[in-house]
Amino acid sequence: MDQFPVTDGELQVGGLPLTRLATRVGRTPFYAYDRELLTQRAATLRRALPPALKLHYAMKANPMPALVCHMTKLVDGIDVASAGELKIALDVGADPREISFAGPGKQDGELWQAVAAGILVNLESAREIGPLAAASQALGLPARVAVRVNPDFELKSSGMKMGGGPKQFGVDAEEVPALLRAVAAAGLCFEGFHLFAGSQNLKAEAIVEAQQKSYQLALRLAEHAPAAVRFLNLGGGFGIPYFPGEQRLDLAPIGDNLADILARAAHALPAAELVIELGRYLVGEAGVYVARVIDRKVSRGHTYLVTDGGLHHHLSASGNFGQVIRKNYPAAIGNRMGAEPGEPCSVVGPLCTPLDLLADRMALADAMPGDLVVVFQSGAYGASASPQAFLGHPAVTEILV
Ligand SMILES: *Cc1c(COP(=O)(O)O)cnc(C)c1O
Repeated sequence: MDQFPVTDGELQVGGLPLTRLATRVGRTPFYAYDRELLTQRAATLRRALPPALKLHYAMKANPMPALVCHMTKLVDGIDVASAGELKIALDVGADPREISFAGPGKQDGELWQAVAAGILVNLESAREIGPLAAASQALGLPARVAVRVNPDFELKSSGMKMGGGPKQFGVDAEEVPALLRAVAAAGLCFEGFHLFAGSQNLKAEAIVEAQQKSYQLALRLAEHAPAAVRFLNLGGGFGIPYFPGEQRLDLAPIGDNLADILARAAHALPAAELVIELGRYLVGEAGVYVARVIDRKVSRGHTYLVTDGGLHHHLSASGNFGQVIRKNYPAAIGNRMGAEPGEPCSVVGPLCTPLDLLADRMALADAMPGDLVVVFQSGAYGASASPQAFLGHPAVTEILV
């Protein structure tokens, strides 16, 4: 994990040696997100993608307010998935015109909040039309909507499929024309379409294919739209490497493809701005999870490093957040970076369950109580995606550094 430099055997995060950073934080475990790496990642994307393309941050990947505040300055818009996320986006100063709200099961209250805030709602069900129209009339404000489409294809080779076939997300493509008539009849302000096919994809050709198909589908549906398409969100799904053998996503073909789509959209959908929304890819590699070794136990010849952190803070690294076969996240002893690896050992947490495993039989530097275990690729789907109340240990600290 070469995004974090090493000096004198210590990992540097946010420009500080890890032990100093841990002292500054005052306690372990903690997540640290590196501001500079976030900035660099956004710049890398901007270089690879066409300038006219809008880049959104899907904040469910990491909703820490200071991080969302930083991201707001780097991207063109924020995608939220609840009223709670909406509050954070508004608190940190995101422009409501550039906030969109997706998610199944939006409650009436959330829809009223969205209209009052002036954000764009991605409709996932005809049921949402009624409360939006009521809010719009009562408040004297437009209800801005896009239709989230459940496409008639799947994103191939995706870690998590979120479109195609039967899904709780979006409106089935074949139902969209009828929904558009209902949107117009209710007086909602139609702005465009949202397609999101899946997550954690490392194959550029699969992403390119999904974007092409999404664009084609949007073109077909636009014929039924009550107003010009002003907003076309083609999703994201860009993955990051976690496990040995995984190759980094090649952005070049994706950039070329999006430039091609933009050129065609300039004629076919002249009022539309094209958007992609990324969570994990923007923030995942900029974060580490740091836990302290409490005990080193040997059980029948196998060494366990027992730490103060575990699955209650980092469910994904334990393998229990959507992994089919458990694999180790990259990890290291952050204050012994140069050291030769010792015998394979397992890094576990303090919970009374064998699922509480951060690294299984990994060749790490020989570690002692007091040392700092670092789990890399931890900037996305970490703290907020973990069952922090499980077993009553303290909540994890998060810092942006
Ligand atoms: C989760 C989600 C994202 C972000 O996905 P990543 O894989 O983190 O990039 C984007 N859009 C929607 C609609 C989502 O549900």
